[in-house]
Amino acid sequence: ESVVNRIAAGEVIQRPVSAIKELVENSIDAKSSSISVAIKDGGLKLIQVSDDGHGIRYEDLPILCERHTTSKLSAFEDLRCIKSMGFRGEALASMTYVGHVTVTTITEGELHGYRVSYRDGVMEHEPKACAAVKGTQIMVENLFYNMAARRKTLQNSADDYSKIVDLMSRFAVHHINISFSCRKHGAMRADVHTTATSSRLDAIRSVYGVSVARNLMEIEASDNDPSSSLFEMKGFISNADYAAKKITMVLFINDRLVECSALKRAIEIVYAATLPKASKPFVYMTIALPSENVDVNVHPTKREVSLLNQEVIIEKIQSVIESRLRSSND
Ligand code: ADP
Ligand code: MG
Repeated sequence: ESVVNRIAAGEVIQRPVSAIKELVENSIDAKSSSISVAIKDGGLKLIQVSDDGHGIRYEDLPILCERHTTSKLSAFEDLRCIKSMGFRGEALASMTYVGHVTVTTITEGELHGYRVSYRDGVMEHEPKACAAVKGTQIMVENLFYNMAARRKTLQNSADDYSKIVDLMSRFAVHHINISFSCRKHGAMRADVHTTATSSRLDAIRSVYGVSVARNLMEIEASDNDPSSSLFEMKGFISNADYAAKKITMVLFINDRLVECSALKRAIEIVYAATLPKASKPFVYMTIALPSENVDVNVHPTKREVSLLNQEVIIEKIQSVIESRLRSSND
């Protein structure tokens, strides 16, 4: 059974960055105002995510890493949206089958916290009382220690670390009310470092730099006709080229970080037609729509989504971007 569990877990947690995405989303769900990530060896040796959220209650610790255990039952009606059924309550459990997980947590009003380690879905020992400040720290050590082939394909720790920095950058420009940091364990300098702000532009500037933020324009589009599409989009797009190696598209749908390659391609086409020199645009976009209109169409771990009435939505967004780019370059 443990082999089956390990294989399933390896599907949910494909690389270090997938573990970090799950851990940080848990910290966001726990209403944290500050989230810090520290990484050793691209995440294979150590992943550490610390937050100041509401913490985990003592009585929940024994079942915390059991599969399908979730405290987020209220979200069950929304299961068709974004997160697939099979994935709910599976993230932490999966990590315990492919790594060594240690949780330190304290809840509001308690005098001390608890620390406990997990293996293969169960606690290794009773929770130990320990000093703790506020919130939760989760450590994953020796990820894929029992998956030699996987470890072999993940030998480039710089590559994994840059995927992690990219992920944290995206979270930081969307959740601007949270302070984020991401660094190599023991490093003085953080590679992502933001303080909570009420300005999206400030957040983008501190993550992606002045040269990106200087060229941004605000955009908005919406449709409230249920017979064609229902959505609301807000975002920032660059109107000039800047020195980036590739296109950056940061997309959140209903507050979840996702990919939508059809939308991305459609935007690239508008840029190519309108501003042929601006070949490496920066686009931040947040879209809200009824959750039953969002579908995860491939695999629970892939972030690719498709939308009901996708063509209509894409065309509306394209035309907003096109007129915005044209008017700014007249
Ligand atoms: P899910 O997020 O789908 O509920 P997870 O396996 O990611 O499943 O997490 C299991 C449960 O552990 C969550 O429902 C939550 O109650 C608790 N949890 C995990 N991380 C944190 C955290 N950083 N702060 C508070 N609670 C947490
Ligand atoms: Mg989760």
